[in-house]
Amino acid sequence: MLWAMLAGIAIGLALSPHGLAVVPDKTAAAVSDWLALPGVLFLALIKMIVIPLVVSSITLAITESRSMDALKSNGLLIGGYFVGTTTVAVIIGIGLAEFIQPGNYIDPSAMLTEEAVSRRGSIPDVGGNGFNIPELIAGILPGNPLKSAVDFNMLHMVIASILGGIAILALPKKKTKPITDLLQAVLDISMQIVFWAMAIAPLAVFGFLSSLAIQVGPDTLIALSAYVGTVLSGLFLVLIMYGSIVFFIAGRSPREFFKDIRDAQILAFSTSSSAATMPLSLEVAEQNLKIKPEVSRFVIPLGTTVNMDGTAIYQIIAGLFLAQVFGLELDFAKTVLLSVTIVGASIGSPGSPGVGLVILATILSNIGVSPEGIAMILAVDRLLDMCRTTINVTGDLTASAVMNKWMKV
Ligand code: ASP
Repeated sequence: MLWAMLAGIAIGLALSPHGLAVVPDKTAAAVSDWLALPGVLFLALIKMIVIPLVVSSITLAITESRSMDALKSNGLLIGGYFVGTTTVAVIIGIGLAEFIQPGNYIDPSAMLTEEAVSRRGSIPDVGGNGFNIPELIAGILPGNPLKSAVDFNMLHMVIASILGGIAILALPKKKTKPITDLLQAVLDISMQIVFWAMAIAPLAVFGFLSSLAIQVGPDTLIALSAYVGTVLSGLFLVLIMYGSIVFFIAGRSPREFFKDIRDAQILAFSTSSSAATMPLSLEVAEQNLKIKPEVSRFVIPLGTTVNMDGTAIYQIIAGLFLAQVFGLELDFAKTVLLSVTIVGASIGSPGSPGVGLVILATILSNIGVSPEGIAMILAVDRLLDMCRTTINVTGDLTASAVMNKWMKV
């Protein structure tokens, strides 16, 4: 995987019109489509099984609990851990954005349309977080699970699986055996398809990175370097937090840990999708980290959907950066409101490419940042998406190492 990644970047830069440009632009564009093909096939294969995999693995993990009480205490442990680490990530993000003040390094007139600049600072603050909380809570339940599956609504599928699992646990084993046998078969079949997909994973990594390196130019990256630098420093600090958690709480060597999970990180980096990486994360957790399957099959699919520290820290930094560029004063109360909304949103976001930015756009329009602001950071979002997805996946694997110790299964 590592070689595929390096080769992909090198070949992409050699072909890119912004790089060595060894071939004409048109040829580079055509080659880029072909190079990306194995990656597209890989993603289609994973997409095909991701819903059955999530449903079967979460439901079975719950039904394998010793008792309702054990399930309750394990659920509280995991929930507390996820919310706790995401909150710390957001606090780190606020500290960095306030300290570095990336918004002050940028000349808005160079990046924004004139009209947007003239509205700078005078954008009305609509106040409130714009979300109707009761509606939001009611929307968490999948009224129509089949529709949720068709729409790839991962949060709905996770909640349906948890509820189904608890119901199975509440009934006598004899009654539910047919469905648990069926789910076990679904899980095994999905893992078999994952196994095949993994055979082309290095090619997918190579293809994604080479076609990306062909397309991306360095210009916008330089203009927004203060912002990009702040986000990357934030992600790096979260990585250090994970290393400390692995050492102090899980009692493992961070060096070994990061070595063991490298393949999952590389796949996350190239696909920008925690959901597409989930099957490999599961394998890495069980094969390399030797996490008990009862733990990994619960923590990894759940974490993929609800635990996104990389996305959360990215969103808070981007939000504060844009507020600085637009000259918006965010007082303490508004910053807290923004943070709470982001922690909540990171739980509800699916692990797909680019969704962090889309959700951020909704949140930000509520604090008065106009769409032009979002357009400005869009130019560098792909790179940041790759990096935050790597952190999201690392966070899930860190959680599985901690829960392997904490959870009583
Ligand atoms: N791409 C991220 C993920 O899959 C989500 C995001 O856009 O922040 O984890």
